[in-house]
Amino acid sequence: MKPEPTLSHSYSDPHPYPAGVAWQDGQYIPVSEAKISVLDYGFLHSDATYDTVHVWDGAFFRLDAHIERFLAGVERLRMTLPVSAGEIREILHGCVALSGHRRAYVEMICTRGAAPYFSRDPRAAVNRFLAFAVPYGSVASDEQMRRGLHVSVTDVTRIPPGSVDPRIKNYHWLDLIGGLFEAYDRGGETALLLDGAGNIAEGPGFNVFSVRGGALLTPAAGVLRGITRRTVMEICHELGLHVDEGAVSPEALRGSDEVFITSTAGGIMPVTRIDRHDVNDGEVGPITETIRRTYWQWHTDPRFIEEVSYPSPQA
Ligand code: PLP
Repeated sequence: MKPEPTLSHSYSDPHPYPAGVAWQDGQYIPVSEAKISVLDYGFLHSDATYDTVHVWDGAFFRLDAHIERFLAGVERLRMTLPVSAGEIREILHGCVALSGHRRAYVEMICTRGAAPYFSRDPRAAVNRFLAFAVPYGSVASDEQMRRGLHVSVTDVTRIPPGSVDPRIKNYHWLDLIGGLFEAYDRGGETALLLDGAGNIAEGPGFNVFSVRGGALLTPAAGVLRGITRRTVMEICHELGLHVDEGAVSPEALRGSDEVFITSTAGGIMPVTRIDRHDVNDGEVGPITETIRRTYWQWHTDPRFIEEVSYPSPQA
């Protein structure tokens, strides 16, 4: 006979987590204890939006822009946040300060929540907000940053904008994850996905830029409007470099002088090989280097940063 199932009251989570602090239901808690219900539509249907901002050397970078994009996503999904924009800012500062991380990856999340009696009507759900800060992480390793990433252009099509509005930062990642596995099978380190017309869209957590003849081009449609992408455009404006949004075919990308990808998780990351072929001479290009340098210089520019007040160490 099978033993009767019993409820374990001494359950301890066997999974390792990075050290960090989360905020949930009015409390700061260790990130390992932050939970959403299995009945939350955020989990069951990916019915959620989020944003990720980073803290670099004790200061948030472009926090306003990240909160603004998050609030726009919440509104487009017809969700109602249980906290104000001011409270979000305070909560994110609190998570980072309590975590002690001077370089942090910070997420704010709104899920549809669960509906009483498991109603199928999303309007019946009570929307939830949570946030957390963990150590900073990057798409590219230190070595990849130095020598450039090796990328595969996959046959996977990014979820079309007519299905999911890509301006809303979302967890619909099965296409991106499928692309990553396809890239690994082909010897790539990360993936680029196509749009419905067969042009380059974006990759798992990043936008892409092509540099040719001193001018830059980035996909116009079907992509998240990345804050790093926007920062690159502003840097180009300041440096007097021409940048366009438009269609980028895989052939055009392969024929670029330089290619780089952009993300809050890593900043400006050079790509030196596409589908086993070197981009140009296979070296990190000078325009990529200049933009990367300026991007990190902007991390000390009062126009873009907001210092975190960490608790003073106990005597
Ligand atoms: N595209 C996708 C699908 C993303 O998830 C992300 C970030 O996570 C990006 C692009 C880059 O956006 P950002 O520069 O705001 O980090």
